[in-house]
Amino acid sequence: MIFQRYDQQWVGRFDTLLSESRLVHGFSTRKGGISSAPFDSLNLGINTFDDSKNVSINRRRFLHLLGVSEEQLICPKQIHGDRVAVINVQPEYSQTDAMITKTMNVALSIQVADCVPVFFYDPSVPCIGLAHAGWRGTAARITWKTVNTMVRSFKADPKSIRAFIGPSIGPCCYQVGKEVQPRFHSQYVFHDHLDLWGCNRDQCQEAGILDQHIQISGVCTRCNPEFFFSHRASGGKTGRMMAVIMLRE
Ligand SMILES: [Zn+2]
Repeated sequence: MIFQRYDQQWVGRFDTLLSESRLVHGFSTRKGGISSAPFDSLNLGINTFDDSKNVSINRRRFLHLLGVSEEQLICPKQIHGDRVAVINVQPEYSQTDAMITKTMNVALSIQVADCVPVFFYDPSVPCIGLAHAGWRGTAARITWKTVNTMVRSFKADPKSIRAFIGPSIGPCCYQVGKEVQPRFHSQYVFHDHLDLWGCNRDQCQEAGILDQHIQISGVCTRCNPEFFFSHRASGGKTGRMMAVIMLRE
């Protein structure tokens, strides 16, 4: 992933997708917004205790950089579940942590601050997907289910789907307790540290995505608290970044 600078703001993008003219995607940072501590400064999360007016201005700033309008944005009510919603003309997105669509100009978005955003793109349909995979969603195999839903709903071909694991808490920092560890195969837990990146990568592979089509950003949000909101680094009270993906007409 590369971070492109626009004045005070940054947009993270996967370099292999930059040449895809019909695709818009991006990941925000905490830089360049108007919110004050502990939401400083580009808080894009609506369910935080930040002033909603600030969040709204921050969102407009970030979406402007992507060329996405607020009317195009689909914001699901995330619950750390495993539901995958198929977004068509009428968006239905309550209690949803993953979405897929093949509709043009519909911007899928999720809010994160350590949880793993997984972006999907199948150029052959074309169609896209976006999953919010914290430990609960990952344990419930949301990434595998998202790919599977793309295949069933849109006849996407796993061999043509590209998957991108965005900035999130890495195995370097994600210490988990005894209630979380048994939910995962021991291969993903090293000295109490959970590897959500590896687990989501493997779910992509199990769903049929080719190894060379899976990219892990390798950027840990907890390791870079000046650049990203991190639930762990802040002790819980913090802002949210946003992951966005849209097919452009
Ligand atoms: Zn880290």
